[in-house]
Amino acid sequence: MKIEQDYSLYEHNTFHLDVKTRWFMEYESEEELLRILHDEYFQESLSLHIGSGSNLLFIGDFNGVILHSAIRGITIKEETEDSVTLRVGAAEIWDDVVAYAVNKGWGGIENLSLIPGETGAAAIQNIGAYGMEIQDVIESVEAYNQLSFEKRTFSKAECGYSYRSSIFKNEHSDPYIITYINIRLAKQPSFVLYYGNLHESLAAYDEVNLVNIREAICAIRLSKLPDANEFGNAGSFFMNPVISKQHFDALSEKFGEMPHYPVSEAEVKIPAGWLIEQCGFKGKTHGHVGVYEKQALVIVNLGGATGDEIALVAESIRQAVYDKFKIELTPEVKYIG
Ligand SMILES: Cc1cc2nc3c(=O)[nH]c(=O)nc-3n(C[C@H](O)[C@H](O)[C@H](O)COP(=O)(O)OP(=O)(O)OC[C@H]3O[C@@H](n4cnc5c(N)ncnc54)[C@H](O)[C@@H]3O)c2cc1C
Repeated sequence: MKIEQDYSLYEHNTFHLDVKTRWFMEYESEEELLRILHDEYFQESLSLHIGSGSNLLFIGDFNGVILHSAIRGITIKEETEDSVTLRVGAAEIWDDVVAYAVNKGWGGIENLSLIPGETGAAAIQNIGAYGMEIQDVIESVEAYNQLSFEKRTFSKAECGYSYRSSIFKNEHSDPYIITYINIRLAKQPSFVLYYGNLHESLAAYDEVNLVNIREAICAIRLSKLPDANEFGNAGSFFMNPVISKQHFDALSEKFGEMPHYPVSEAEVKIPAGWLIEQCGFKGKTHGHVGVYEKQALVIVNLGGATGDEIALVAESIRQAVYDKFKIELTPEVKYIG
């Protein structure tokens, strides 16, 4: 177990904000986690479990305990003629899991290549990209109740998945700490190629297979998203808003070219990046903070920014989009502090 006091979180958040936590505790097994949960000091302290911090915005120092898992490992739990079920430790880097599956020829997560972060968080966030979501392969999630210390295995249905959300993000349910996830992958995968320019990118390859899909997706992502080592960021800052068909029809009369994706007969999803771009933010800088020139949905730390400065820019974006379109943007990034 690793325990540090007044510990810098610079390397633990992809915005690279120079904030500190009063305590940092990292456990390597479920037994070590239980020891922390039973500790009286821990119980009385403010606490937050983090992964790689790629979806977090620290507004200031954290006056409590930051918990981090070091539970790793990928093991085969079950194998049939058609599928294989993997049990994966929460601290495994998600993209390493994708690379492992693709190299084995097992499909279902290849479109989720290069999404930053750890596996436990991926299951909480219901990460998604290029027409796939992790919920498509989740069989179950193993977690500890932080209040009762009991272990529970949630079936996929019990995880309550929806767009970038799950029961684990619900502030009204008991706090759970994920230790392992179980995912089922296909030995004869059916590819999902309809999204964005993936199909076009694959035209450059001799054949469509898992390795080529992963390679094409990595190339597209690297060309579109900033390198977090150069410009700290947390990917998409806001979620894509879903609005009523009625609201959409009224807006299309004014903004005919508005991109949209039907969600149901009554609802339409609008790309948040397009809305932000229409408000003139793309490529603009405000002090130490910028709106990425290639994707208006990404807010970047140009160097030396504070969480407050980033939050202020996010707020002016949210307000401008509301004033122009009467659409409320909701942050995908979680504010801490
Ligand atoms: C450049 C970039 C591109 C991105 N692209 C995408 C994308 O295409 N699709 C997408 O869906 N996301 C994307 N993201 C967002 C991010 O990668 C995901 O949200 C990711 O799952 C966060 O993982 P993390 O380990 O960094 O979690 P953190 O940001 O550290 O935490 C996220 C949440 O999970 C909780 N948490 C973490 N681990 C545990 C655990 N073991 N038990 C309980 N709670 C836990 C935290 O408290 C927090 O609420 C992108 C981010 C960046 C920086």
